[in-house]
Amino acid sequence: MNREHQILQRAIRNRLLSSETTAVGFMDLDGLAKSIDDLIAAFPDNFQHTFAVKANSLRHVLMKISHCGIGAEVASPGELTMAQSAGFDISKIIFDSPAKTLDDLRQCLKHSIAFNLDNEQELERVAELIEDYPSSEAVIGFRINPQIGSGAISSTSTATSTSKFGYPIGDEGNRERLIGYYLKYPWLTSIHTHAGSQGCPLELMAQGIGELVAVAEEINARKGEQQIIRLDIGGGLPVNFASPEVKPTFAEYADILRRNVPLLFTGKYTVKTEFGRAIAAKNGFMATRVEYTKLAGGRHIATTHAGAQIMTRTAFLPAAWPIRVEGFTPEGALKTEEKVQTDVAGPCCFAADLVAKDVLIPKLEPNDYVAIYDTGAYYFSNHFDYNSLPRIAVYGVSTKSGELSIELIRRAETLSEVVSNMS
Ligand SMILES: *Cc1c(COP(=O)(O)O)cnc(C)c1O
Repeated sequence: MNREHQILQRAIRNRLLSSETTAVGFMDLDGLAKSIDDLIAAFPDNFQHTFAVKANSLRHVLMKISHCGIGAEVASPGELTMAQSAGFDISKIIFDSPAKTLDDLRQCLKHSIAFNLDNEQELERVAELIEDYPSSEAVIGFRINPQIGSGAISSTSTATSTSKFGYPIGDEGNRERLIGYYLKYPWLTSIHTHAGSQGCPLELMAQGIGELVAVAEEINARKGEQQIIRLDIGGGLPVNFASPEVKPTFAEYADILRRNVPLLFTGKYTVKTEFGRAIAAKNGFMATRVEYTKLAGGRHIATTHAGAQIMTRTAFLPAAWPIRVEGFTPEGALKTEEKVQTDVAGPCCFAADLVAKDVLIPKLEPNDYVAIYDTGAYYFSNHFDYNSLPRIAVYGVSTKSGELSIELIRRAETLSEVVSNMS
């Protein structure tokens, strides 16, 4: 029996799942630590890894990640506050929003929080502000867009020619202007790109990172000394949602980078990474109860409680974000018999609110559970307020003295909280 099945059965035995349950999430905290160990082991010591907090900002999850020794990538004052409250040392935090306010920039300079600039206007702002913080030790980088083109999913392709992110270095004259900025501002000691995300081939990502390194080398050569000391290569390693297999692994990605951009591995530069999905996705899953079933136009429909309020990306972009589901009996046995074409639906009042559409799975009945896999990133902390549905409870799972321990790490939102959030 695999780990998720064990967790589900234990949750039923502990009555965390019952005929009253709507949906609950589980985060495998041991799995999370293992993923981070794999990440650290895949790269040499000049790499400094961070976790992209937007992928899962539950405080207990962040606490576990900070204990594992890596840093945090944040993109808003809220994420910065979450990361600090979860124990990340300020020296391991990097602030990456494309819309930093004057106050955000002041905070970064004042507390020496590393940050990446997105555009020329922000650069000019910082050039003025920095006069007020002469002793700031914030490592400041400029985010470039290498304009390598789109992967398979346009909404997560960050390096297209017209992307909203970073400084487009392929546009007429921009590469030379960028070099000029670095020569003018000696406090620009880092350079950043986030070249990929789900759907991007690894070679395309490596090509974008190769561009980043080439620009950094050119700037340092023109300067006649190593002004740029840090390369921030972003995150964006895709995740396999089709099966339990981890593919690609961090080690496979490191091999592709080693082949295509060997300079990253020489120790000449400190290299920052910012992985989100690849660290967290496969360490979370959800269980939701089937409330009703029906037949419509020959299709078996199972209505559950996990829909667009949790599975927002999957509901709105089902082709880009398909998700794996399995059915279990109310006692927790995996269902294997009588496969039928099924839509697994959510509770929201709009037609596209489906978790899985037209999948061939064993026939679901009321009070069965549906396990929804690989939901550890971009689901549990990315709630979408629809139909005033509350945030679901999330449990953290770890093995203690050989036994599975399941503890609440985020309680379900109460109805009075739902009311106060709308008042
Ligand atoms: C979202 C984001 C990441 C993490 O992306 P994943 O695809 O989850 O690895 C890293 N860096 C920046 C700047 C981001 O916006």
